Amino acid sequence: MEIREKIKSAGLKATPQRRAIYEIMQDVCHCPIDEIISRMKEIQPDVTISTVYRVMDSFCESGLLTKFVTADGKTIFDITPYEHHHIQTTDNGFIDVDDKQLTTLIKKRVLDKLPAGEDIDQIQIQITTKSKLQEA
Ligand SMILES: [Zn+2]
Repeated sequence: MEIREKIKSAGLKATPQRRAIYEIMQDVCHCPIDEIISRMKEIQPDVTISTVYRVMDSFCESGLLTKFVTADGKTIFDITPYEHHHIQTTDNGFIDVDDKQLTTLIKKRVLDKLPAGEDIDQIQIQITTKSKLQEA
């Protein structure tokens, strides 16, 4: 689907800024806000930081993007708009792990450990890697 249509189908106006930011996200797939801001400044030097934050919030609220927090506290925006897991590589890249069986298995294993009246909201596993060479 074309970017303009994708944004409209989420119930948002396809403004030039929204189209540019969504295009960046399609290019990078997983990205912290500071990198999105610096890429936007290259394309549209007069864009404000608050505009980028507002657009990212509207994308997340409308279900166009998701976000997650890494083990070291960094918020990463994600072009994949549904629940999935990640492998974070040593160069801070992210590989999607879309494995419904894994998610179902985790649910089955932890359901009886939840407090009464609580249910699982979301499951996001983050696996980090280390270089095999460092162990040698
Ligand atoms: Zn992802």
